[in-house]
Amino acid sequence: MAQEIMQVSPLPPYMMKALQEADYIVHDHTHIKDPGALSKVTALIGTGSAKVDKKLLTMLPNLKLVAICGVGYDGVDVTACKEKGIVVTHTPGVLTDDVADLAMGLVLSIGRRIPQADKFVRNGDWVDDEFPLLQKVSGTRIGIVGMGRIGRAIAKRAAAFDMHIAYTSRDAKADVPYAFYDSPTLLAAEVDYLVVAVPGGDETKHMIGSSVLQAMGSKAYLINIARGSVVDQPVLVQALKDKHIAGAALDVFWDEPAIDPELRRLNNVVLTPHIASATVETRHAMAALTMENLQAFYEGKSLPSPVPECSALCDLAAVATTTAAPAA
Ligand code: NAP
Repeated sequence: MAQEIMQVSPLPPYMMKALQEADYIVHDHTHIKDPGALSKVTALIGTGSAKVDKKLLTMLPNLKLVAICGVGYDGVDVTACKEKGIVVTHTPGVLTDDVADLAMGLVLSIGRRIPQADKFVRNGDWVDDEFPLLQKVSGTRIGIVGMGRIGRAIAKRAAAFDMHIAYTSRDAKADVPYAFYDSPTLLAAEVDYLVVAVPGGDETKHMIGSSVLQAMGSKAYLINIARGSVVDQPVLVQALKDKHIAGAALDVFWDEPAIDPELRRLNNVVLTPHIASATVETRHAMAALTMENLQAFYEGKSLPSPVPECSALCDLAAVATTTAAPAA
């Protein structure tokens, strides 16, 4: 029997195709034509931007799985899911290289003003002028906020640029050789590039605010490839306007995709449209892992990648499959 699932964010065409080929009936949460369908939905599927709150969970009495195609799941109320025995899965690991690649690309882009230099050539400014000299990137100090999968991959790349690596995380890691600082503010005072790689959500909201930006000082750059919520964006915009920090390179924003015009007007920023994992290879690998989680769930097998908070619930997932067929 075909399983009925619901998409809670737009999905790419190759993923819709895979779902259809695997015989899933996919409802769209923005266009529910038959209210009776809600009780037939046993899994939700969405990207890292998906919002799954208590209100939505209450509408879906037979929901057992939330499969996120992305590593970040800060839009999902995991506590409420766990209370209802609903397992949440995500796609860690498969996007780590891409995100770390973009982080280093942003370090180089803002440090050497690559987009600004490109504009300088295109505008014909080179004919009458010289592009200004900048600071060397190799051999500088990089601070990583969040020494997880992506943080470690950034450190590996930074080492190839002879950068001095330090980090902060909730605790020091015994298996990395880098200097540990107890807080983002202490770390910020010691680095030229501060790269944010923590998850979004309440715990990290505005972790990068005025005290961190003040500690960075006028020669340091902020790079954010994590989530817009981690940075207090109005405070950052003011710090950039006042040149309290040297610049910022941002892939994520609290108001994406309609970014604050003040931020867009600044010259000391590089802005990318949340593309850190956006390569063909990685997006297909993320989709494949999401499909594996769905399939394992419906076959009663252990789930390949539950979020850490749900690991203990995974055994229940196998049990839940027996009840996955919705009530009539
Ligand atoms: P991860 O392996 O779970 O690493 C997250 C790190 O953040 C861990 O080291 C963790 O510390 C640390 N951390 C968590 N809460 C913290 C807190 N309150 N204070 C200090 N450190 C904290 O996750 P990942 O795979 O590296 O991914 C990190 C994040 O990158 C994702 O959650 C997602 O939001 C973002 N991301 C963005 C894009 C994009 O397109 N821009 C793409 C992929 C991922 P502990 O080790 O102590 O737990």
